[in-house]
Amino acid sequence: MGSLTVFTQVANFLKENQVTFVAVSKTRPNQAILDRYALGHRIFGENRVQELVAKHQDLPKDIQWHQIGHLQTNKVKYIVPFVALIHAGDSLKLLQKINVESGKVDRVQDVLLQVKVAQEETKHGFLPEELEDVSLLTEIAELPNIRVKGIMGMASFTSDQGQVRREMKKLRQVFEQVRDTNIFGDAFGVLSMGMSGDYKIAVEEGSTMVRIGSLVF
Ligand SMILES: *Cc1c(COP(=O)(O)O)cnc(C)c1O
Repeated sequence: MGSLTVFTQVANFLKENQVTFVAVSKTRPNQAILDRYALGHRIFGENRVQELVAKHQDLPKDIQWHQIGHLQTNKVKYIVPFVALIHAGDSLKLLQKINVESGKVDRVQDVLLQVKVAQEETKHGFLPEELEDVSLLTEIAELPNIRVKGIMGMASFTSDQGQVRREMKKLRQVFEQVRDTNIFGDAFGVLSMGMSGDYKIAVEEGSTMVRIGSLVF
């Protein structure tokens, strides 16, 4: 099956389930993005700042660009003028930096709090226990130039489906617990989880936004 056919099938499945589809276009050429744009798709995700900035410059301006990978503080300034959503809000320090830089360009930047539930040491994010700390959440909520819209997380890269499901249940639990504090108000409604290998489990476990790359390109 061609990748555009798979793209359409995945897009339709997600639409039926009312899950937002972020097409992860990192490392893909502009033409591959334009082919999917021509099908009506508008939300693309990138994990490298330089590539994201170049693609934003070269491609249609109504694309909503999402920054999905770990973001270094010194690179925040290059993307805050245009990026629709930063998924990898993985430390207080980074969120404070995003707040400062988005203030400089008169924006309120939408962000997600990345939560680390996977076993791998390499993954970034707040620990679930850290987000039980109401004073931390309040400090984040008081940053005037960011708006926290939800939680992002990744399950472990493993063939153990049971483990993937348990980690996604944990992400959903953290999402609901933070939401129910009401500290971030009504804007807080996004649970970004699910990738090529595990998006069906993610949808079953309550994901509202998936980030899918290799399967659909
Ligand atoms: C690359 C990437 C994805 C997409 O992964 P695929 O397995 O290609 O679907 C999703 N989220 C993040 C943070 C990524 O870096």
